Amino acid sequence: MDDSVRMTVQRNLPLGIEYKLIGSWQTELEAGVTCHNCGAPIANCAEVESVHGKFVVGMDCAKTLCGDSMHFMYAESAFAMGKSARATLRKAIKENKGTNFRAETFTTAKNFYKEIGSGWWQYTLSTGGSIFKQYPKNVWCSHVLPMIKDLVSVK
Ligand SMILES: [Zn+2]
Repeated sequence: MDDSVRMTVQRNLPLGIEYKLIGSWQTELEAGVTCHNCGAPIANCAEVESVHGKFVVGMDCAKTLCGDSMHFMYAESAFAMGKSARATLRKAIKENKGTNFRAETFTTAKNFYKEIGSGWWQYTLSTGGSIFKQYPKNVWCSHVLPMIKDLVSVK
């Protein structure tokens, strides 16, 4: 969409009230998700909440609505972690680097982050050994797992 088109788009969500980012994930544009604020098709999706309820918008609109709060900046970096995990796994799958791609949410506090609800993704290398990455609970459940769950087997 070029800027002249964007200018004419009707904004649906009022500014000047508080929005909180409650989650974000990535999807394919072809999935047909559109921004509740500007109506554009979106791939980088965010769920925001205000006194009027919960809405799915694009990350760009979420940034406008939420402002540059610490909370939003934190969520944005967690979103980047999810995107990076997805890119890493997609590349490994495409390049046939390993097998047994999986993700697990820990139900005990024995793992690295020592909290129930933290998690990791992992795969076995065709050459032996394994690759994994672990995430703390707040990042794992809301940002990383939703972004990779269609790529791996989830435990
Ligand atoms: Zn939008």
